[in-house]
Amino acid sequence: MEAPKLLKILAIDDVPANLSLLGKALGEEYNLQIATSGAKGLSLAQEDPPDLILLDIMMPDMDGYETCQRLKQDPKLQEVPIIFVTALLEKHAEMKGLALGAVDYLTKPINIDIAKLRIHNLLEREQLRREIQLRESEQRLAASVFANTHDGIMITDVNNHIIEVNNAFTRITGYHREEVLGKKPSLLKSGRQSAEFYADLWKTLLIENHWNGEIWNRQKNGDLYAALTSISIVRDEQGHIHHFIGLFADITSLKNHEYDLERVAHFDSLTGIPNRLLLADRMAQALAYVKRSGNQMALCYLDLDGFKQINDEFGHEAGDQLLLEIAKRIKQCLRNGDTVARIGGDEFVLLLLELTKISECETIIERMLHVVAEPITLSGCMVSVSASLGFTLFPEDNADAETLVRHADQAMYIAKQSGKNRYHRFDPTLDRLILARGEFQAQIENALNAQEFELYFQPKVNMRTGAILGAEALIRWRHPFNGLLLPIEFLPMICESDLIVKLGDWVITQTLHYLTLWQTQGMDMTISVNIAPRHLLQADFVAQLERHFSNFPTLKPNCLELEILETAAIEDIGKVSAIMHECQKLGVSFALDDFGTGYSSLTYLKTLPANTLKIDQSFIRNMLNDPEDYAIVEAIINLTQIFHRQVIAEGVETIEHGLELLKLGCEQSQGYAIAKPMPFEALIEWSSRWQQLYQNSFMT
Ligand code: C2E
Ligand code: MG
Ligand code: MG
Repeated sequence: MEAPKLLKILAIDDVPANLSLLGKALGEEYNLQIATSGAKGLSLAQEDPPDLILLDIMMPDMDGYETCQRLKQDPKLQEVPIIFVTALLEKHAEMKGLALGAVDYLTKPINIDIAKLRIHNLLEREQLRREIQLRESEQRLAASVFANTHDGIMITDVNNHIIEVNNAFTRITGYHREEVLGKKPSLLKSGRQSAEFYADLWKTLLIENHWNGEIWNRQKNGDLYAALTSISIVRDEQGHIHHFIGLFADITSLKNHEYDLERVAHFDSLTGIPNRLLLADRMAQALAYVKRSGNQMALCYLDLDGFKQINDEFGHEAGDQLLLEIAKRIKQCLRNGDTVARIGGDEFVLLLLELTKISECETIIERMLHVVAEPITLSGCMVSVSASLGFTLFPEDNADAETLVRHADQAMYIAKQSGKNRYHRFDPTLDRLILARGEFQAQIENALNAQEFELYFQPKVNMRTGAILGAEALIRWRHPFNGLLLPIEFLPMICESDLIVKLGDWVITQTLHYLTLWQTQGMDMTISVNIAPRHLLQADFVAQLERHFSNFPTLKPNCLELEILETAAIEDIGKVSAIMHECQKLGVSFALDDFGTGYSSLTYLKTLPANTLKIDQSFIRNMLNDPEDYAIVEAIINLTQIFHRQVIAEGVETIEHGLELLKLGCEQSQGYAIAKPMPFEALIEWSSRWQQLYQNSFMT
């Protein structure tokens, strides 16, 4: 270790002998330098400033006063204490020396002990003064940093009570120093962070003595601000906590900017609900969550019916307004944790979480379809749109996110095709069949060539007389791997393509073929065939029909009835009416299928030359316990009497239904109570048994 440096004393005297005694006495404790003139002393001092100067007054050339003056003029030496040593005993000399900045006076002959003491005290005092000066300047610096820094600073004591804050703290939080002293920092809490967040913060802080992170806090006026915060613990030598120092920068504008960017990237600009990108995110989270929780999730695809017309008729602005309103209504039906995203013009995807049974999901969907269909005022007009919705359940449908959306979309398509304003659940077993719609169409085409389609027949009877009136031809697909498929499982996927025409032609040919068979057995019956709208609207529909009949010359056209959906008929009423008239000229008759679901007005009904109205099975099913459905059935029956049309009820599932319908004046019916659809051979066999069945059921 280096020996402590001795303090340096410079003695200036023209007669060094004067100082020899003193020099000896001081030389042991101090590093003593001697100069024999004022000028020499000055230059020595300037070279290496001493800690103390002993200065003789009476010297030739430059006397002690002048030397003192010159020393004091040098900034480096200003602070060096000077003691005058002189024989002069005049008061005025002493005064003059002190006035020039000397700190003490020693008179010759010098009393060594007193001189040593004085020098010692003086140097000690000087040392202290310098230390204080240094500390003060350090403190001044710290204080100015504290006061002027842009970052907020908060110091708390060991109990986490605030003991000091700076100006920036006040600027950022809005709280003045006096308002927060003694309070806890939690007065800034915004509630944005969870209890766990703070627990983690304290844990890290106490272990690592430091914590860094972003916190949303609240200003005095209630506004939120984001603080990039760093908290440190100051401990004493024993490791006890002394203070906490919190330093924070206001990064609110940065966060807001980040938030804006985030919104643009993740939210739909029109409706403010999540967009496709955020949906993907939410979906990934939801799938992981469902896997953990063991519950189910429904993914729904919702598409508005008739949105395009509204857009065309009222303009885009009104269309936007409509979408905004619809998004709002959908949101109102959702629960916490559910998501709705807009992924296209009028297309929405919904994630319904925490489902324990499918009925929960159906309740939500039904309510949603209901509120979506409520009227909206657009540019002063009341309009209403409905929605078609498809959904699939995860993990029953154990597919990835993208596939789930596609499945829900497919189901939505079926909902649309089966008449809109309804929902359809995706069937995962069926999907193994339908890999893609295009591929599916090829499969149908193959199936046609491979003769995998069959016609089933469901009898129609007169419940009053027991007469068999005929049957409805219903298509089935006997799939080599999937068994017997119902029309709903494959028709919707092709009803917008020309395949439906091809398939319809096949159905007509088959029907005419069976009709001839039936005739040879001496039965005079009609068979009704369902005709898809696209098929009926073909320019050569009537000509094709004639051609079909020409292949079966023994048949009279009045044995064929065509069923067209009420909804389809009113969509293009002029064209449809014209075609119906043409066909009727040939002798073919018409039934309006699923009647009651298309809201056709009386005017429409008057225009459409349908021979029969077929009451939709949804009304029949509930008529016995739903007074409204009962009233609808009753009204339709009355309507047919006024307009001189025939009426038939479909979906008659029990004898009770049948008897009630008879009471209302509807005699014709079709339904499980009479017979389920069956192959032609079974129909022949059933016909022979029917009278017996009839006696046993309707007549008792
Ligand atoms: P639709 O024309 O209204 O036919 C009646 C549907 O109700 C048939 O279903 C029939 O099996 C079913 N049904 C009959 N009685 C009852 C009953 O008492 N209770 C219940 N719950 N259901 C009953 P299916 O055969 O599945 O046909 C469904 C729809 O597919 C038909 O409805 C029709 O719109 C369409 N469709 C069937 N075959 C053809 C076809 O060859 N061509 C076209 N374009 N569409 C067809
Ligand atoms: Mg039908
Ligand atoms: Mg029907």
